Amino acid sequence: MDIRAQVSMVFHLDKCIGCHTCSVACKNTWTDRPGAEYMWWNNVETKPGTGFPTLWEDQEHYKGGWKLNEKSRKLELRSQGKVDAFLKLFYNPNQPGLEDYYEPWTYKYADLFDAPEGDDQPTAIPVSQITGEPVEIKAGPNWDDDLSGSTIYAENDINLDELSEDEREQLFEIERVSMMYLPRICNHCANPSCVAACPSGAIYKRGEDGIVLINQDVCKGWRACVSACPYKKIYYNWKTGKSEKCILCYPKLETGQPPNCFQSCVGRIRYLGVLLFDADRVPDAMTVPDHALVESQRSVILDPFDPHIIELARANGISDEFIYAAQRSPVYKYVMKWKIALPLHVEYRTMPMLFYVPPLLPVMGKLDNGTYDNEVDGFFASLDKSRLPIKYLARLFSAGNEEILESVIKKLMAVRYYKRSMEIEDLDLVLISRMMREGNVTPQEAEEIYALTALPTVDERFVLPPLQREEAMSSPNLDPETCRGCSGFGCHDAPARGA
Ligand code: SF4
Ligand code: SF4
Repeated sequence: MDIRAQVSMVFHLDKCIGCHTCSVACKNTWTDRPGAEYMWWNNVETKPGTGFPTLWEDQEHYKGGWKLNEKSRKLELRSQGKVDAFLKLFYNPNQPGLEDYYEPWTYKYADLFDAPEGDDQPTAIPVSQITGEPVEIKAGPNWDDDLSGSTIYAENDINLDELSEDEREQLFEIERVSMMYLPRICNHCANPSCVAACPSGAIYKRGEDGIVLINQDVCKGWRACVSACPYKKIYYNWKTGKSEKCILCYPKLETGQPPNCFQSCVGRIRYLGVLLFDADRVPDAMTVPDHALVESQRSVILDPFDPHIIELARANGISDEFIYAAQRSPVYKYVMKWKIALPLHVEYRTMPMLFYVPPLLPVMGKLDNGTYDNEVDGFFASLDKSRLPIKYLARLFSAGNEEILESVIKKLMAVRYYKRSMEIEDLDLVLISRMMREGNVTPQEAEEIYALTALPTVDERFVLPPLQREEAMSSPNLDPETCRGCSGFGCHDAPARGA
């Protein structure tokens, strides 16, 4: 067992108000530079929608992540095989182009002041940040914002592919359209396809905290990582000729401060903490069938209270401070204790180490008589007709496994009605206790979930000691000279996988 610590995040989607403050905070800090104008290390998408870059989830086109070779039961990169890896360095048809992102622009503000006197008010026309020439704006990083019912954007969301006509109709009926916001950063995956695809060995996963970084001195700008990342969270800087990505604000983490997206979040939707996981089991855990992937990923995450795990973690150089942080981790509670936070598109098999509590808000189910049911009694029965179809959410968060998604929604729903029953007298308590049973939640657990969801302090949402790099790098199992910190996907495994 090779125990590693992972700095991880949970996004509670019911609390996201789609204000994009996180994106702006990140941009102002990290990508407000020449060559990085189009990059959004943190972006927030409206779902259903096509996202950024457009249709990034379409792996038939972009070929990101891993695919399972059914014969050998081994993972292979979708983006490149042993034969075409070299050729694709020179021409890669699956690479997103500027048209899939957008041509970054600014406005000629000076014209507002310098324009000669005339009959009309002067205007500031948009100009390209790349060429300086006037541009007609046709796309942007947040182009389908709030267009949940739009036939141009939302209907093209590939996660809707398996929905029936009836389910689509429910989703797009104009008075009933529903949507959710999906904030996205790099998932700092435990089985990162970007690391495996890089021909220069420039991308590495830090052994001590699992943060995935690109060594700018080593990067040769081949862009194999851009293709290989299924979340499209690596961007090519056209000015420096290097690739860049979210660094989880590690310089802040190292001094005990939260990342900027976390700190600026208006909805307080983000939780950050430590998970302990068994790096030895990571690649195999991702070779199970799609429907079993969520459970398989859970089985890799370790119990930080188990004395045997604590002993092995210590032997692997994980400090007591980190182990203590893992025991108080809000992420561990959401992902493992309550099992209500799920990974995004786990079927890409990169083992994303950030997690999402699916949204509950547009919860009413459509009844057969065409009305919408918001009553406790009818709720569980009408889950299959809820406004954001379970099938759709399952495509996003459980590789299509509707059972897992339903169990999460039931638990969230039970907590909500349990708390409401304390305020509203005419709610049927027998019914509430039935919901609690079906939602598999006790009153004490419901109180805990409610407290961490609705009333948490910053200290409860952000549980991380300052990272002690020097100590971590001097641990017995890490050689600072050679370690790429691949978390079980490095020295011993990478050659076998063509990395
Ligand atoms: S999400 Fe991040 S760690 Fe995962 S494959 Fe993409 S760039 Fe790599
Ligand atoms: S700042 Fe928080 S609430 Fe606002 S869009 Fe970002 S994640 Fe959502």
